[in-house]
Amino acid sequence: MPLLVMKFGGTSVADMARIKNAALKVKREVERGYDVIVIVSAMSGKTNELVGWVESTSPLYDAREYDAVVSSGENVTAGLMALTLQEMDVPARSWQGWQVPINTTSAHASARFKSIPADNINAKFAEGFKVAVVAGFQGVSPEGRITTLGRGGSDTTAVAFAAAFNAERCDIYTDVDGIYTTDPRITNKARKLDKIAFEEMLELASLGAKVLQTRSVELAMRYKVRLRVLSSFEDTDENSGTLVCDEDEIMESKVVSGVAYSRDEAKITLVTVADRPGIAAAIFGPLSEAGVNVDMIVQNISEKGDVGAVTDMTFSCPVNQVARACKAMEDAKTAGHINFEELNVDSDVAKISVVGIGMRSHAGVAATMFKALSSENVNIKVISTSEIKISVLIDRKYMELAVQALHDAFELEKAG
Ligand code: ADP
Ligand code: ASP
Ligand code: MG
Repeated sequence: MPLLVMKFGGTSVADMARIKNAALKVKREVERGYDVIVIVSAMSGKTNELVGWVESTSPLYDAREYDAVVSSGENVTAGLMALTLQEMDVPARSWQGWQVPINTTSAHASARFKSIPADNINAKFAEGFKVAVVAGFQGVSPEGRITTLGRGGSDTTAVAFAAAFNAERCDIYTDVDGIYTTDPRITNKARKLDKIAFEEMLELASLGAKVLQTRSVELAMRYKVRLRVLSSFEDTDENSGTLVCDEDEIMESKVVSGVAYSRDEAKITLVTVADRPGIAAAIFGPLSEAGVNVDMIVQNISEKGDVGAVTDMTFSCPVNQVARACKAMEDAKTAGHINFEELNVDSDVAKISVVGIGMRSHAGVAATMFKALSSENVNIKVISTSEIKISVLIDRKYMELAVQALHDAFELEKAG
């Protein structure tokens, strides 16, 4: 039997009417002759609520219990989806992660897949079940505890199942009808793409475009999964939505293909640290041990102190890791491993990035980007570049404006 993976995100299963709407889409594929693995998210808002409850217990909660709690939203929608399909005479049953089993590492809240044996689900397909409804976002650790994959992780569950079961396609149904040149909520000039290269989507996702979880794109790229994003609220066919595919399947040739933003960034500066070999290791070692995801780094001459003797070190990280980062730095100072006069935190910054594989062979993208921001009077605080992206850190209040200005400057509303 040909097999499809269909994933429905939180807004697509937000209430019983929407679950029914999603189930009808599944039923249609069954009628076309497919066995279907349906991956469901929790109802929209549910995971946030569960996270909030856990966080209200203690700032230093047990991550194993966090996972036990926050994984539960998906259990509810998996059962409800299976019931809804049964009501439509589609033979279906639900699967929680441990029942499959979805084996993961024991890194709670950011677990990674180790294996997804196909035997149990395949045995049920052989018995006549047409649909396996699997709770997304969760798995089970070698210790037998429930794990979760990080926010947005149901996308990754979907791609991993598509790889493990050799699915014909992995369809990600969501509240937009595809992948756009930027978040369509920020500008109505955003243009839907028919196709996007894995590398570009990987960058866009890791730079904040939450339409797909980064890890899902990585897995799709590695296992050559045909990955598609499409609307759960519209009538769709095999040509709908956006296909994420290899670069050489794409005809469009724009230098920049998308703009991404990440709202909740922070910038931390250590003022006047000793300018000596080993200082970067002494700063970033403890940050990494504290689990701080450092992103951009700048070392520059300090306004204070002697040139050559001291320097300022600036880095960015997610805003919810600031407390941990500051503690790691204060502890390293107390232990005498580093020295600084001040620790300056700016929690009101956002990161804006332009991405495109065309940047490999075109000069001038940075200049266009900086000019567009300067004509809107947006000050750039930190810059970082790689082969196919340029990112800048700016004041958060200019975030929407900056995305719109860059979208215009690179004429992304026009097809290439
Ligand atoms: P789901 O609950 O279905 O997983 P998400 O909220 O995680 O949905 O992702 C879909 C959202 O991603 C869209 O509503 C949109 O606001 C946002 N988004 C950000 N960047 C993009 C982009 N480039 N193209 C499409 N959507 C984007
Ligand atoms: N429900 C989880 C979250 O909100 C996983 C997902 O929806 O992908 O992060
Ligand atoms: Mg999502």
